[in-house]
Amino acid sequence: MDDYALVLNSGSSSLKFCVFMRPYQGAWQLESRGQIDGIGTSPRLSARDSLGGILSHSSLDDTVCDGRAAVDALGSWLRSRYGDARVLGVGHRVVHGGAKFDRPVLITREVLVDLYQLIPLAPLHQPYNLAAIERIRERMPDVPQVACFDTSFHQTYPSVAKLIPLPKDLRTAGVQRYGFHGLSYEYIASVLPGLAPEIAGKRVIVAHLGSGASLCALKNGVSIDSTLGFTALDGLCMGTRPGALDPGVVLYLYQGLGLSAKEIETILYKKSGLLAISGISNDMRDLLPAGEPDAKLAIQYFVYRAAKEIGSLAAVLAGVDGLVFTAGIGENSPEIRKRICDASSWLGIELDTQANSNNRSRISTLQSKVSTWVIPTNEELMIARHTGALLGLLQAVA
Ligand code: ADP
Repeated sequence: MDDYALVLNSGSSSLKFCVFMRPYQGAWQLESRGQIDGIGTSPRLSARDSLGGILSHSSLDDTVCDGRAAVDALGSWLRSRYGDARVLGVGHRVVHGGAKFDRPVLITREVLVDLYQLIPLAPLHQPYNLAAIERIRERMPDVPQVACFDTSFHQTYPSVAKLIPLPKDLRTAGVQRYGFHGLSYEYIASVLPGLAPEIAGKRVIVAHLGSGASLCALKNGVSIDSTLGFTALDGLCMGTRPGALDPGVVLYLYQGLGLSAKEIETILYKKSGLLAISGISNDMRDLLPAGEPDAKLAIQYFVYRAAKEIGSLAAVLAGVDGLVFTAGIGENSPEIRKRICDASSWLGIELDTQANSNNRSRISTLQSKVSTWVIPTNEELMIARHTGALLGLLQAVA
């Protein structure tokens, strides 16, 4: 086995990973991907090779109780599979890069100090991203690590889209709209010229609909606005997050109902959205077949918000030429895509129902004014590309 690069996406209860072979002629080859989930409860490691064959599906012992222990467990698995092959570098998904990091960066102690300061802006992601980086620094201090941010791709917003109209001292302290899911949007923008050249250079709305969800307005492949803002709480209704919310609600929870900041944080990040409306699940796969009125209402609200925000970004773009669905729901649910497209038909979207039902790539009719697509995202490949570019790995291949 050759040397490889590792891509990590570390969360509160899971550590997702991809192993990429040293790039050959500029192209990264996926060797394996997998995750450790159930960290702190019942940890399991599952992994598949690049063709989907199962490499591992096993329980881990209870010592895998946090992100650091998960990195150790992954290290053992990698050694058992790849022997003495060298880790060329580790690329991390880091949710928040703040105003400072407008591109991926090689991680140093100084960079880490900056990233720790952003924890309050992404309390449910950033600490876990950083814990994995720290553990690898301890275990493999000579291996270079790269942070790739969900925010960087949106640094191209015009200043008016970055603005949160609060007093200047707050704005200079970093209160502005950043946008997220940037690695996903960057990947989509990178493949559009090949897959859908007729819209790549035009006005495109990308709908990243997963357990976290947002929309991005691309103009000529560049992000000019999106629905997430200062934190990953704004915009669309998500699995457990409410999306756009009158800030007065937060004041009321705090002042009127006497909830603590921590309780409010838990409500906003973990107990709202689809889960709260349905009372059943945060997972669209559970809600779609469910007959309960509240499950139907949750889906109705999800679609309503998506269509409303598509209208808003259409205004920002002054028209729409293309719509792209991606991520878990966007890639896999013809029903949700159909409902969002129907609700947005006034923009000139004409769905090809057969193509949509078959999860084909182009799902609009040839006459449709807005050309509509399903494109699987690949944030991990984007991280591998950035890591390779920053570490000079592409040039290292003869
Ligand atoms: P994450 O934001 O965690 O990376 P994903 O992009 O993988 O999420 O999306 C996960 C979500 O995708 C799940 O919560 C589920 O609601 C949704 N999903 C996956 N497959 C389907 C499907 N076939 N139909 C509807 N929803 C789906």
